[in-house]
Amino acid sequence: MRTPLLAGNWKMYKTTGEARELVEGLLRGLGDVSDRRVLVCPPFTALQTVRDLVQGTPIALGAQDVYIEPQGAFTGAISPVMLRDLGCSYVIVGHSERRAIFGEGDELIGKKVRAALAHDLTPILCVGETKPQRDAGQAETVVVAQVRAALAGMTPEQISRIVIAYEPVWAIGTGDTATPEDAQAMHETIRRILGEMTSPNVAATINILYGGSVRPDNIDDLIAQPDIDGALVGGASLKADSFLRIVHFLPPQR
Ligand code: PEP
Repeated sequence: MRTPLLAGNWKMYKTTGEARELVEGLLRGLGDVSDRRVLVCPPFTALQTVRDLVQGTPIALGAQDVYIEPQGAFTGAISPVMLRDLGCSYVIVGHSERRAIFGEGDELIGKKVRAALAHDLTPILCVGETKPQRDAGQAETVVVAQVRAALAGMTPEQISRIVIAYEPVWAIGTGDTATPEDAQAMHETIRRILGEMTSPNVAATINILYGGSVRPDNIDDLIAQPDIDGALVGGASLKADSFLRIVHFLPPQR
């Protein structure tokens, strides 16, 4: 019912030459991925290079952020129209690095989700708690509030077109992964909230990815959980062999 999505977030890595080398490596080893979706999200500066390489292949193209207006006097910003023009079909929104380093709040993130949808881009909305919040027993409250705030006022049809990435902040780039059981518990909660905002039937179709130190050696256990529908991968997506092993996860026996 939900096709798994394996997404690579390259963050601020890869010049155009390095991007070319990585994508060529991915394409060499990709094989048959007809039962899953594969996505790479390079920095803006490498989008065109990667687009030229992945066109006509099973690899989809996404961006790491987007601004809310189609055009205008917004120095340094990139619009959803520009991303479509470059062949993007996905965009990451509200990554914890955007929230913590660039000060993005739920209101702006919600506007970005809408702007992406309005231009036929699938937003990957990132949510997740910090370590102090988890230690204080607030993880669920924080994540539910982030989901509700970003999607407030949206129609079930709009919500049905988004992807959620649960990324505990303490697990991003640290090597410290949530246990499959803890991740599953949060994914189940997120799906329940999505069900309240739409309907259980709609919520059952929405992909909820896990992100936070996903690696070749933990992807199979994570994706075996019933509500984990793929992964948003940072560090391990920067090398062809490790991302390919994640893409080639062993399907759970359900
Ligand atoms: C991310 O950037 O979204 C991420 C999960 O990074 P990493 O896989 O390196 O923890």
